[in-house]
Amino acid sequence: MAVQRTLSIIKPDAVGKNVIGDIIRRFEENGLSVIATRMEHISAAQAGRFYAVHAERPFYKDLCTYMSSGPVMPMVLEGKNAVNLNRELMGATNPKEAEPGTIRADHAESIESNAVHGSDSLENAAIEIAFFFGDLDLHSH
Ligand code: ADP
Ligand code: MG
Repeated sequence: MAVQRTLSIIKPDAVGKNVIGDIIRRFEENGLSVIATRMEHISAAQAGRFYAVHAERPFYKDLCTYMSSGPVMPMVLEGKNAVNLNRELMGATNPKEAEPGTIRADHAESIESNAVHGSDSLENAAIEIAFFFGDLDLHSH
């Protein structure tokens, strides 16, 4: 399986619960490296652009309010099979359906406040990485 890059975001609920370290530990222990990150407090308009694919969904406005409710930590993860591996570590969108031991099973509050974002395909990973980071921000190691 090829080395890939994917975008993760530690969402406002998880930042507020002080579990940034626990989440990054899970990535690193499973062979993913953080090659870019920073903390950021995005606006609802920025959240709306990031989640534009969901613009027609009934939860869109609440999602934008939630994602701009506090600081988030976007990061680029690099490693073998990074896109799907990150999705596995995250668990299902609804924490009630997330496998035990996943980030969302352990830290998500609800289907909305669900601790982390992860790109769902290699194609979207490239688009989402470019939303937050430029080439010079990425540091493979
Ligand atoms: P995922 O983050 O697992 O890829 P989606 O792309 O379907 O999930 O949805 C994006 C985000 O929108 C979710 O992570 C969650 O924060 C929110 N969301 C998804 N479905 C719902 C819902 N039914 N009600 C409220 N918020 C939702
Ligand atoms: Mg998604």
